[in-house]
Amino acid sequence: MRRHRRTPRDTAEPAPPDVGGTGSTPVIELDGVGRSHPGGVRALIDANLTVEAGELLAVVGPSGSGKSTMLQLMGTLDRPTEGVVRLLGHDIAGLKDRQLSGVRANWIGFVFQQFFLTEHFTAVDNVANGLYYHGIPVRERRERAADALARVGLGGRLDHVPRELSGGERQRVAIARALVAKPALVLADEPTGALDSRSGATVMRLLHELHADGTTIVVITHDPGIARSLPRRVEILDGRIHADSGASSALPAGVPG
Ligand code: ADP
Ligand code: MG
Repeated sequence: MRRHRRTPRDTAEPAPPDVGGTGSTPVIELDGVGRSHPGGVRALIDANLTVEAGELLAVVGPSGSGKSTMLQLMGTLDRPTEGVVRLLGHDIAGLKDRQLSGVRANWIGFVFQQFFLTEHFTAVDNVANGLYYHGIPVRERRERAADALARVGLGGRLDHVPRELSGGERQRVAIARALVAKPALVLADEPTGALDSRSGATVMRLLHELHADGTTIVVITHDPGIARSLPRRVEILDGRIHADSGASSALPAGVPG
């Protein structure tokens, strides 16, 4: 029942089922999912994918193949034009926009290539912002943010603003922000895309550590080397999933089910 503390009390999204147990609800299910744009662009076509709790998977494919489209659908930032997206068993079509905001705030952590930190906020306040919608007093938000920053190795950078941090450090702040609300799912879109190879390796090591702690993580990448380093690879080409190495053992060793 370790995820029950994630249940929000102040927002209106549906209660999450237990996502850790044997035979538990998948974190993500895409069932015949498509996303077309006006003008006829089919960014995603008939995607079928199940992500179980505790998985770490790569979505890999060339630029324009539909990776970000798929991530936006998984993250409820967009709605499909065909098929069903289920998050922790809930069909997102049945949820109002306000409920989806709650779903994102409480269940999902996002990491993007461009970091999206607020420039005039310190690291600790950028991360504390990840708890803004949780009804937590500001002092506790800052304490939890400081803990999350320590976890990504930035305990000594709490009061630095983004321009005082390297690219790799900024991305670690963004990862701390994604984690601070203890989400069921972390979605990372090209998290190393703007980093040199050494900082990129640090970020990937961090994602592996989070996975070892039981976090479900989907990493989008166009880098085949990064994809190969992850336990499961889903390849996408011209909007279609054309290969899936399949679910690895969903929960890493040592994580209670
Ligand atoms: P990737 O992340 O793999 O580079 P995307 O998912 O961003 O690819 O885009 C997939 C395809 O959908 C591309 O051809 C892109 O131009 C198109 N696309 C994405 N968003 C829109 C949109 N809002 N309107 C029209 N076409 C779009
Ligand atoms: Mg993209």
